Amino acid sequence: MRDELKALAKLAKMDMAAKELDEELATLPKRVEEMRSDLTTLESLLSSERAQVEEARQLKEARLGELAERKDALSQAKAKAGRSRTLREADAAEREVEANRRAMAQITDDIERLQATIESKSGALEEREKQFQEARALFEQQEAEATARLAEVKAQLAAVTDGRDDLLAKLPKRIAKRYARLRARMGKFMAVAVIDSGTCISCQMALPPQLYIEIQRAEDFHSCPQCNALLVHANLLEEQPAADAAAADAPA
Ligand SMILES: [Zn+2]
Repeated sequence: MRDELKALAKLAKMDMAAKELDEELATLPKRVEEMRSDLTTLESLLSSERAQVEEARQLKEARLGELAERKDALSQAKAKAGRSRTLREADAAEREVEANRRAMAQITDDIERLQATIESKSGALEEREKQFQEARALFEQQEAEATARLAEVKAQLAAVTDGRDDLLAKLPKRIAKRYARLRARMGKFMAVAVIDSGTCISCQMALPPQLYIEIQRAEDFHSCPQCNALLVHANLLEEQPAADAAAADAPA
């Protein structure tokens, strides 16, 4: 019985040690994905800003083309005014000259405004490009670190849980089943509480003195009356390996 109780305590200790590694195994890839998605957001922000600058540039090009056309139209209108023979012709030509001048002023305003937009956005864009490159370098570094850590965790997990099946095989079936059920329950309580005093470390309940005495005797499986954790005394873990267990049992 001591051997079985000891196997249960070792199994619980093993699973507890594996728990953090298990959690790390699950959270590491998630963290990398979060960082990757932040980077993607930054990248799409960047490309939308690039598109805005490009749009302003194209608008400016178009406006420059219109300005050139208006300039030609203005010269033609001026020539027409010079050639006009009647007052009516002169008035019409003059109106054309004025219309082209007004249009040119308007277009020039637009071009200046577009130019200012291009300049300010280009500055912001340059800054954003730099931030993005930095973020990407950081991401690549952290991703590489996470990948290395993942391999490490997997190796540690394999080492920590080495011999788990043997321990499980030592347990009576009903206890193995109970242990699995207790482990699966969600919540704050432990499946196995390895205690070294009369208090259950899973739920902090003070155990009935008779129960604590029986747990110390290690002649049967016991559970906490409050949280149902299987209770094993820490002394069992400090005993010599299984080979000496029979000898240790004999005088008791
Ligand atoms: Zn308890």
